[in-house]
Amino acid sequence: MVRVMWLPGSTLCVIAIAIIAASACTSTQRPDSTDVERFIASRAQMVERDISDRGVEDPLVLSAMLAVPREEFVPNDYRDQAYNDYPLPIGEGQTISQPFIVALMTELLNVEPGDKILEIGTGSGYQAAVLAEMGADVYSIEIIPELAERARGALASTGYEVRQRVGDGYFGWEEHAPYDGIIVTAAPDHVPASLRDQLGPKGKMVIPVGPTGGVQSLWLIEQRDGQWVSLNQGAVRFVPFVRGQ
Ligand code: SAH
Repeated sequence: MVRVMWLPGSTLCVIAIAIIAASACTSTQRPDSTDVERFIASRAQMVERDISDRGVEDPLVLSAMLAVPREEFVPNDYRDQAYNDYPLPIGEGQTISQPFIVALMTELLNVEPGDKILEIGTGSGYQAAVLAEMGADVYSIEIIPELAERARGALASTGYEVRQRVGDGYFGWEEHAPYDGIIVTAAPDHVPASLRDQLGPKGKMVIPVGPTGGVQSLWLIEQRDGQWVSLNQGAVRFVPFVRGQ
């Protein structure tokens, strides 16, 4: 049984605004060296202003977010906005989460190099790249084949190794369980029991739960003394968790 516990003092009020994109495309466009320098400077500014100054402390998370070229995971038309702290359209009506949310969710997972992490909702591949940069062994499931394919390209061109699968992540990826962490980047209206079952004894799950377009909460779920504990991390807004046929 899930025991719900509120952490009043540490409740974070976080709004990730989901922007529904009419359309977006990604084609390969290599940046020149001035672009590269500009993006490095923007990335450093993002990590300081939007992540560490807002309370994310895990050095592994901060250094991964300093290292992963986020501009490579957004459509060409949005490259210049890659380091702004809001979600961006990635096509097919989906979004890449704002940098702060990526950092917060990653910190909650408490990732250590070598951990096995399952992500539900590959999207652009950016979150998976951050986890891979931290030394995690990353498995990621995406329900929209076109997005999975684009993410595959972005991950390959940036040099991150992530095992990907196309399908409904509701039932997890049993074959590789147990996981040290499960991160869900779309919001279902309940916590899928099969995902919880695929966590190891010290595993953690970070998952937004709530109605589409309504108030959703970000939950950290873990076991303490053999009991499941769910800790509310505050209000968020994510794209819906859709179910396959
Ligand atoms: N982690 C992504 C965020 C993408 S948005 C990133 O870094 O860009 C959430 C993604 O979850 C969308 O791409 C959506 O298609 C996917 N999704 C929604 N329901 C899903 C399901 N049941 N199984 C797998 N992926 C799902």
